[in-house]
Amino acid sequence: MLKRIAMLTDNADPLVPLGGIEAGGENVYVLEVSRALGRLGWTVDVFTRWSSPKTNQIAKISPNVRVIRLQAGPIEFVPKEQLAPLMDKYVQSFFSFREKHKLEYLLIHGNYYHSGIAGLEISRLLKLPMVNTFHTLGLVRRAALGAHDASADDRIAKEKQVMDCVTRVIATSPPMKEEMIKMYGVPVKKIAVVTEGVNLKRFTPVAQHLARRVLHLDVNSLMVLFVGRMERRKGIDTLLWAIKDVADRLGERRKVLMTVISGGETKKHWKRASVVEKTERERLSALVEKLGIGDVVKFIGGVDREELPFYYSSADVTAVPSFYEPFGLVPLESMACGTPVVASKVGGMQWTIRDNVTGYLVTARDHHAFGDRIYELLTTPETGKRMRENGIDRVRHLFTWEEVARQMSSLYTDLIIEYLYRQAKGS
Ligand code: UDP
Repeated sequence: MLKRIAMLTDNADPLVPLGGIEAGGENVYVLEVSRALGRLGWTVDVFTRWSSPKTNQIAKISPNVRVIRLQAGPIEFVPKEQLAPLMDKYVQSFFSFREKHKLEYLLIHGNYYHSGIAGLEISRLLKLPMVNTFHTLGLVRRAALGAHDASADDRIAKEKQVMDCVTRVIATSPPMKEEMIKMYGVPVKKIAVVTEGVNLKRFTPVAQHLARRVLHLDVNSLMVLFVGRMERRKGIDTLLWAIKDVADRLGERRKVLMTVISGGETKKHWKRASVVEKTERERLSALVEKLGIGDVVKFIGGVDREELPFYYSSADVTAVPSFYEPFGLVPLESMACGTPVVASKVGGMQWTIRDNVTGYLVTARDHHAFGDRIYELLTTPETGKRMRENGIDRVRHLFTWEEVARQMSSLYTDLIIEYLYRQAKGS
């Protein structure tokens, strides 16, 4: 029997460029988990919504992994919040495709809550086991963002429905597991913790002076890096306030300070940026001006994955000031490249980053604390050196996609055996 599973990800096409407002960690996760499962002998069909006429309906990722783009609504970008009414069509297109190509699946793996709901319908009709990975949790997001959170109540109701009905809920970190138990009332036994990972072939250390030369950056500068989507929850404003502190403390030396903020649409496609992203960029630019730090801050737009390791390797410190970060791939990518992280003590980062070992964890929104730690890492290179080896080591031991796929494969196998056994007994 072919070990074939259907991975559902309505909005996160694994092959689109990253950094834009709706393409980030989930796209990387689906791509890397599927590819690594493929290497372990699983056949993975990733079903996403067809969102660009420039893409083909089917695209191969690796010999036994492919992306299948289902027609559900117009073949153009549709923001996440407007996807719900299109999900029935997504399910219908899934069944048409499956029938046309005579495909049998052993398990459904949903992501997020829209695909989760679609997955419930598919797994119910096919009587298959289903797991669902949650990339963010609406209730936690709301608690962190307060009035600025746009998540509707409907989202939280759907998350609960998926958690109630799937065979296993996947939490990507132990803190997320706790949140699911405490805030959503999910029974402990129903949750499997399977972490996320880093592609170590790509994210590997490059000597700082060489990385800077590749990017045409000043080899003598003190460099702080931010990588992520232009979204309020990423807390870039906290970083800008912290940079003001750091610049003031550096006095004369502020001329060598350089804060590189990457993410959002690439410069070439800036016109394509969403309203959310444009609004956030304008808000942040106004803050830069108000704080008088235009000389030490540079927004460079989205960076290709091929180039990112050079940015991480160039930086003296990577800042991750998010108000809420369910997992956070960026700190791990930075650690894999040997650059220490100063991050908010929230979500999965409380577990992936070891305080004072691979970086520093500080209270979210506390720009003085961020400023202190960033200043320390910029001015005492011995601290950075000590953390460098620890970070590389931690990622290599705990956070590879190979390890993630091994854990996922073992979870799938258990659930499929249970399912086949029940089928054989006719229950
Ligand atoms: N990313 C990228 N280019 C950019 C900005 C981000 O390739 O300009 C990638 C980044 O390397 C990471 C992902 O997008 O792999 C963001 O994942 P993370 O978990 O940090 O945040 P999320 O997007 O899930 O909120």
